[in-house]
Amino acid sequence: MKYIDEFQDPDLARRLLDDIHAAVTRPWALMEVCGGQTHTIIRHGIDQLLPDQVELIHGPGCPVCVTPLEVIDKALEVASRPGVIFCSFGDMLRVPGTGRDLFQVRSEGGDVRVVYSPLDALKIAQQNPDREVVFFGIGFETTAPPNAMTVYQARKLGIRNFSLLVSHVLVPPAIEAIMRSPNCRVQAFLAAGHVCSVMGTGEYPELAERFRVPIVVTGFEPLDILEGVRRTVLQLERGEHTVDNAYARAVRPEGNPAARAMLADVFEVTDRAWRGIGVIPASGWRLSERYREYDAEHRFSVSGIRTLEPAECRSGEVLQGLLKPHECEAFGTVCTPRTPLGATMVSSEGACAAYYLYRRLDLPAAAASKTAAAAEHAGASGTPAPDSTPVPTATATAAPAPHAPREASPVV
Ligand code: SF4
Repeated sequence: MKYIDEFQDPDLARRLLDDIHAAVTRPWALMEVCGGQTHTIIRHGIDQLLPDQVELIHGPGCPVCVTPLEVIDKALEVASRPGVIFCSFGDMLRVPGTGRDLFQVRSEGGDVRVVYSPLDALKIAQQNPDREVVFFGIGFETTAPPNAMTVYQARKLGIRNFSLLVSHVLVPPAIEAIMRSPNCRVQAFLAAGHVCSVMGTGEYPELAERFRVPIVVTGFEPLDILEGVRRTVLQLERGEHTVDNAYARAVRPEGNPAARAMLADVFEVTDRAWRGIGVIPASGWRLSERYREYDAEHRFSVSGIRTLEPAECRSGEVLQGLLKPHECEAFGTVCTPRTPLGATMVSSEGACAAYYLYRRLDLPAAAASKTAAAAEHAGASGTPAPDSTPVPTATATAAPAPHAPREASPVV
């Protein structure tokens, strides 16, 4: 498939791995910001193929996971009201609130519907003028443009029975919060390519300079991740800290001007709570004054929300990269995708779900697998890597001779 297969090419993966192995001389800790990148890394065993000195720390970039419990509880409350049609993307229905989720609200008679676009929710509002239709608008800069467009359309068409329950969050303030954390071990970031395809790269040079961290805009296929790691490691080894775009096929420095104009019109920056992390100043969007009448929080005055996180769930530490999912005692025992305690086990971008899906059977031998993969990469072993995906297959062939790292990327 175009734009997929060529970014899973085993020979190119091996060349990139060779470059990374040849470049690394010291331990480095890199954070991949986006949960989609985390899933690629774990699914393809990329972390196990990297040199032992390169640690990938999973960041907070899963939109479902960081939506605060209070907002989930507000969604449950609004969805339970008579006359409301509550629309959402499917993965939000299983995110646990305080004691229940949206599926449970539906089983109790609430009209909760899964849609594939906020515009579908707007159409439902047009078809049901006597009902209030609410769309659950969460996520990063990637999901915000269609939500902004939908509110813009609702206003333009005079559709008054539509509203948005908004919990949008922004990547640059999260990077700043992570770097300011006293426990921070992150030395470089793989920035989320899809976020930059909307917002461009202009927000990052100041962060890279202030915290002296390389920030490499990275895509989502295995070769994208390896290329992002390669460029990041080269910067770290040289003592550099610049913003580099390793996802040029999708990201322009200016981003998407039409989307940014729509966002600037419909939203305004606000402080936002992140689940498991707390309030990060100026880290979210809410509807601007012009569109405030479409804000579900204003339309449905929801009060008396008392949130209660499960004591066992350590997703806050997972989201900050302080804990690997399998280090949580509940992982795979009381907490599974069928019985999730935290959103990181629910979402298709959650780190706990990634470890459960792709790594749970290997976990006791994870360290050994990495050592074996590294030895194999150096030509000392024929032991296969744990996954049968294209990237590990590449390393199962004869190891190439060591060489100096290339400047030019073998990735097209
Ligand atoms: S494994 Fe479950 S309980 Fe543990 S941090 Fe992840 S979501 Fe929370």
